[in-house]
Parts: sequence; C-alpha cells; structure tokens
Amino acid sequence: MDDRLAEYRRRRDFTRTGEPDGGQEQRRSPGGSPLFVVHKHEASSLHYDFRLEVEGVLKSWAVPKGPSVDPSDKRLALPTEDHPLGYADFEGVIPEGEYGAGTVLVWDTGTYEHLADTDREDAAEALGSGRLDVWLHGEKLGGGYALTRMGGSSSDRWLLVKMDDEGADRRRNPTTTEPRSVLSGGDLGDVAERGKERR
Ligand code: MN
Repeated sequence: MDDRLAEYRRRRDFTRTGEPDGGQEQRRSPGGSPLFVVHKHEASSLHYDFRLEVEGVLKSWAVPKGPSVDPSDKRLALPTEDHPLGYADFEGVIPEGEYGAGTVLVWDTGTYEHLADTDREDAAEALGSGRLDVWLHGEKLGGGYALTRMGGSSSDRWLLVKMDDEGADRRRNPTTTEPRSVLSGGDLGDVAERGKERR
C-alpha cells in the first residue's frame, strides 16, 4: 500500500502529541479547490511551514523566514514530510520531547489554483519537475507564488518567491505586522496558554 504518511507517523507518538494521525482522512470532494496552509511554528527555532494539498496529502516545506509579499525576496523552503489533510486546521502545543516540540498556529489558509504550463500537467508532476506555480486565495497571502527547486532532482533546497502581480506589495510585511492565527485570532502566546490549560 502506498502510504505517503508513513514518515509522518513514524516521527510521532500520537499518545503524546495532539496532532492528527491522518487515520480518518477524508479525501477532498472532486472538483473542490485544493487547500493551502501556512503554519507559524515556534519550535527549536521559529519558522513557517508552507503546505499545499496535492493528491490527498499536504506537501510541506519549512520556510525559515516565512513567505513574503515582496517579489524581490527569495525565501528558502526546505521540504519536510507529507502531512495529513487534517493538519490544515491543527493549532496547539506539541509537547516537549516530541518531534517539532513547540507552539503551532494557522498563520494563513485558503485555497489555491495550480498555474499549469499545460492543460495536462498536474501539481504532482510540476513538483517532480522542480517548478510549481500557484495562485493563493488566503486572508494574508494572495496571488501568484513560484516554488522552484534549486539544483537537480536530489536537491532539498527550494525557493518560494512572490510573483509580481496584484497580490504583491513591497511595503507590506505580514509576518511582522499580522502575527495572529486566522482561525483563532490568537498569537503564539495565546495558543501556548490554551495548551497549558488543557493539560
Ligand atoms: Mn514546522
């Protein structure tokens, strides 16, 4: 069985972490737009996780500086393991000692469109070729973004770059000025406090 979540599950102890185990995954309805989500994750170092729904999982990259809305910024994006679709609305505290220990919030989410080169190319093929262009419909992020693999197919370094379109704004810096969750409205401190109350 093709289990693309095997690596995700191998890294986690679901008796300890509140993250979804992906066991009850519902495939998205055909014709529904695929999801994107950007998590803000305060782990050993603060970073953002950029995730796109592709073929029933969330393809994921850790973006140390987070996405930019300035087309002149090239943001390093390091692939991480596929996550279950249910992770798209995960927010909370991953306990100490667990993989990714720290606080996670949903910094932005919405749907996206694949800006395909040809009618036949799907998002998975585009990723395989090392270049995926998407149009995001988020609350903070909108318009085109290009994900480009640096170097050959074995490279694990990608760049996430804003395209120069109506969603671009060189004066906006949403990772600084809009730090709160689009789901709960809380910041990292609020999410961490709620995590403590639950214990
Ligand atoms: Mn992360």
